[in-house]
Amino acid sequence: MEYKGIFDTHAHYDDEKFNDDRDTVLSNLAEHGVSLVVNPACDLESCEKTLELSSKYDFIYSAVGVHPHSAESDGNGDWLEKVKEFAKNKKVVAIGEIGLDYHYDFSPREKQKEVFAAQLQLANELELPVIIHDREAHADTLELVKKYRPKGIIHCFSGSAETAREFLKLGMYIGFTGSVTFKNANKLLLAAQAVPEDRILLETDCPYMAPVPYRGQRCDSRLIPATAEKLAEIRGTDARTLIDHAFENGCRIYGINPEDIK
Ligand SMILES: [Zn+2]
Repeated sequence: MEYKGIFDTHAHYDDEKFNDDRDTVLSNLAEHGVSLVVNPACDLESCEKTLELSSKYDFIYSAVGVHPHSAESDGNGDWLEKVKEFAKNKKVVAIGEIGLDYHYDFSPREKQKEVFAAQLQLANELELPVIIHDREAHADTLELVKKYRPKGIIHCFSGSAETAREFLKLGMYIGFTGSVTFKNANKLLLAAQAVPEDRILLETDCPYMAPVPYRGQRCDSRLIPATAEKLAEIRGTDARTLIDHAFENGCRIYGINPEDIK
């Protein structure tokens, strides 16, 4: 089935996996019903890359920030000033992606927390929402969200229904990727049922997280319907309705006026 009005609220088109055909993929998205994309950065280098993409394509918006994986390598010197400078670009709609990753632990946990906290404060100062990556770090993420009370999104949600409810109470939006279609997704599907229709977001996190039946392939925003269909099924609605709600929610949290996109 074909859908229209798809908002991929989290995609990494600056990733090297798109180096051979990036413009072809991006130019074809509209034909497949994808009308909006937010491309978050992971480190200072990808901040520049995402800004190039969002200046080239009207339908792409950017988020700038330093991911926990890069906290150790990039969170030094005047890094925060650089993020702040990037955030002045008019296509920047959020600080992200930022957060904590205790699965890979690529940066020491104390350094992750320091870099995360600094960017939560920056987002509040700039009145921008945050895009939070929380992998096996729910308790510490929750603690910092409670402390700084940002507006924003828990992206590629991977927690329980109980954790989702905690974040919802703090006003956060919850983003779901293709991981809801994976075999072991039972806990995640219970969480997806706990999110009200005005707080749910659809995202790919591409090039990763391709939904079943595309699992293992390079993902892009055209695969969102497979995620939407699974979520709709578990929530007792239809994919069309879910895609519409997710579009409105995405525009609301990122402060995007869909009329601005040609
Ligand atoms: Zn991501």
